[in-house]
Amino acid sequence: MTRCSSCHENWSVSSALKRYTAIAPGMACPSCGQMQYLSERYRERSLMMMLLIPLLMLIPAFFDISIVAMSLLILAAFIAIAVIHLFTIELSGDQETEHKGLME
Ligand SMILES: [Zn+2]
Repeated sequence: MTRCSSCHENWSVSSALKRYTAIAPGMACPSCGQMQYLSERYRERSLMMMLLIPLLMLIPAFFDISIVAMSLLILAAFIAIAVIHLFTIELSGDQETEHKGLME
């Protein structure tokens, strides 16, 4: 579950959903007000999962399945990825990538 890196309070699903859909890089913790960002590890993992979608698109090249079955499969994959993302959000008190550049 999504947990604040500052007060270690679990975020509600609605807060996590808000964080997941927000464009802004940071969001204040509903419990302690500390700004929380998506952790770098989480962002890397999200990217990896997104790379699975084009792989799915290759399935019809190897297997004889209908367009309808293929569309359902891709839709299911999108939903599964979104749900996994939502429940595995990792928060960080820092905007990690920006800080890294400054420290090195
Ligand atoms: Zn907090």
